[in-house]
Amino acid sequence: MRCSFFLLGIMLLIFLSACMGHKTDGDLPLIKETDHARFYSPDVNADKEKAVTKLAEAFEAHYIRIVKLFQLDSTDKTIVHVYTNKADFQKMIGRNTEGTYVASENIIKVYTPESLNTPGVEDAFTDQIVHEFVHAVIQQINPDIGKTKWLDEGIAYYTSNQLQKELQARSLFLDIPTLEQLASPDYFNLEGGEAYFYSGLIIQYIVDKYGEDTLNEIIRNPEQNQFERIMQTTIDKFYEEWKGDLQKNQ
Ligand SMILES: [Zn+2]
Repeated sequence: MRCSFFLLGIMLLIFLSACMGHKTDGDLPLIKETDHARFYSPDVNADKEKAVTKLAEAFEAHYIRIVKLFQLDSTDKTIVHVYTNKADFQKMIGRNTEGTYVASENIIKVYTPESLNTPGVEDAFTDQIVHEFVHAVIQQINPDIGKTKWLDEGIAYYTSNQLQKELQARSLFLDIPTLEQLASPDYFNLEGGEAYFYSGLIIQYIVDKYGEDTLNEIIRNPEQNQFERIMQTTIDKFYEEWKGDLQKNQ
């Protein structure tokens, strides 16, 4: 009898420590937990909790679709750190960004305004967390995908539906990048939003013309020679084919 009480006590301790173990991440308190993610944030208040709830709802609304699309067998919950002080956030990340996936820590870190009550603002920041989750998924499948920025960013921009939203507002493609620009590490720094837009269009073209399985094969084998093997064409021919299709459709 004493033994079973003892066992029960041990089990209770294990259970409690498992519960307590997720209450903080580093020095950040847990402020929201969903089926597939835990959200941590400093300086919790009611407005911020509402903003995080909106991010969490967007995350859950897209979670199954994204995990299925990329065929990821994920078991661990996604960790998200949410900051509402933009200057502090950018200082911590070390660059001018509002969101990032830190592969070495497997943590999504995002800035969000304390209030997400304006519809346009809400869309921008809920889209952003979905975008960062796509990076988290594809970089977990293959960390090398981060080395080919147009693939990494194009897949995130396309899969988060940011591309489709932008296409509703524009149909002219006047500054299509060259293949050299796309391959250049500076392209995203120099062109900003345009770089995301055109990279997303390439991914849309791959999915529409070659299918989701082909995109998945590319994610798992992103090197140029593998890309050419999967696509059964050279990168130059593929680029010309994509560009021709884009010009034809505007
Ligand atoms: Zn991105």
